[in-house]
Amino acid sequence: MGLFDKLFKKELNTVKPQNQTAPKQDSVQKSSVPLNEEVQEINLKNAEKLETDLVEASYFNGCCGECAKYRGRWFSISGNDKRFPKMPVNYGCTCSGIDFSPVIFGVSEPTWCDESTDMIAYSNRPFVDDRTEEEKSIIDIDKRNAEADEMWSKYEKRWNAIREYDHKQYDKLVEILPDIAPKSYSGYMRMKKNNTKNYQKLLTEAIINGINLDYTDEIKREIEQLTPIHNEYAKVKAEYMKAHYNYK
Ligand SMILES: [Zn+2]
Repeated sequence: MGLFDKLFKKELNTVKPQNQTAPKQDSVQKSSVPLNEEVQEINLKNAEKLETDLVEASYFNGCCGECAKYRGRWFSISGNDKRFPKMPVNYGCTCSGIDFSPVIFGVSEPTWCDESTDMIAYSNRPFVDDRTEEEKSIIDIDKRNAEADEMWSKYEKRWNAIREYDHKQYDKLVEILPDIAPKSYSGYMRMKKNNTKNYQKLLTEAIINGINLDYTDEIKREIEQLTPIHNEYAKVKAEYMKAHYNYK
């Protein structure tokens, strides 16, 4: 007798079947969720190894209204365990999404609710979007984050070229004036950005030694153009990090 049978097969036969099934997922594009499919395959294999027919829908805190209907529930992979809704095997989503990890009845504790939660009742809750207002705002931030990434991708190359120029100048400085070069690149950039007295001294000393640390006029124009765009991008990124990781 396998683990599955030992744990709950007997109980399974005595439980009154539930009639609820998960809603159909016609609108979801399978091609847009390559990772989920891969993860799902591994999870299903693990479930087989563990001889369990149950999976738990795990989710990231910024899930969409559709994923919210599924999140936290336990599902029966085969649909034979009538205590739980049948797992929507092809479910995928373009939001941060959910995936299905194996759980063992009577052994596993629910990840997303209190351990005293009746998982049969919880898994059969109505299929509705039960996100809080705060959770809903996270998905907006996710959307803005994706838009910001896309927007910034057009400028990133130019921005990185400026950083590359700074790196090169710093390397030259370290090579030619090791005694007065700042200890780190970030330290150098800080003083350059703030145009400190020490930076002015460094600038003069460097020119005497054939290195011009100042930007070319072309780079100055680039910086002028890109800085407000980069600030906007950085603002959205910070909001995103705060919403997901409470990162300040
Ligand atoms: Zn979703």
